[in-house]
Amino acid sequence: MRLVGPQDGCLRHKIKDIPPEGLAVGGPLPPSLLEAAFAGLNVDLAATVGSYDVTLHHSGDDVLATGRLRATLGLQCDRCLKAARIEADAPINLLYLPPDADEKADDEDEEAVDYAEHDNHSVDLEGILRELLILSVPMTVRCREDCRGLCPTCGQDRNEIDCGHGEVRVAASGLASALEAIVTQKNPKDTLKS
Ligand SMILES: [Zn+2]
Ligand SMILES: [Zn+2]
Repeated sequence: MRLVGPQDGCLRHKIKDIPPEGLAVGGPLPPSLLEAAFAGLNVDLAATVGSYDVTLHHSGDDVLATGRLRATLGLQCDRCLKAARIEADAPINLLYLPPDADEKADDEDEEAVDYAEHDNHSVDLEGILRELLILSVPMTVRCREDCRGLCPTCGQDRNEIDCGHGEVRVAASGLASALEAIVTQKNPKDTLKS
């Protein structure tokens, strides 16, 4: 396995360097890639790390890249606004075609494979890695499955403090079920009468 350093441009690999048995590339995701992927998003880059493992196979004019992207994203919980760590694990299945190839249209049915273009000299993994990073940010972020969030009444973190406001709702629903019980108790008599 050839490890790639964190310098810029390291995600580009020369096609002529890919041996017939394939070339394994991988390593930590460069900070510049994380910055580019998450620009404008609410992501804590200091708490975000990741790595990738890809095998490149050269066949004809095409280069197939298969592997995985793994990352831990530093995000913010939508409910309690505290730090949330989201694990991302995405498969990579990308076919690089020569510039202006019309193969793309023929293979459109193969949904499992993404397509990119190489420049006849090298393939660049930056695009696919950046795309997978962006896609790994969930629509709703939870620090944990059962996060209780902030109290809508007093704003305290209900994971940490039982401010008591939650019980108001319990009492109200208790009253509702009590009323319901009275109604259902009343009904049997009515049915007996008729
Ligand atoms: Zn939370
Ligand atoms: Zn409260």
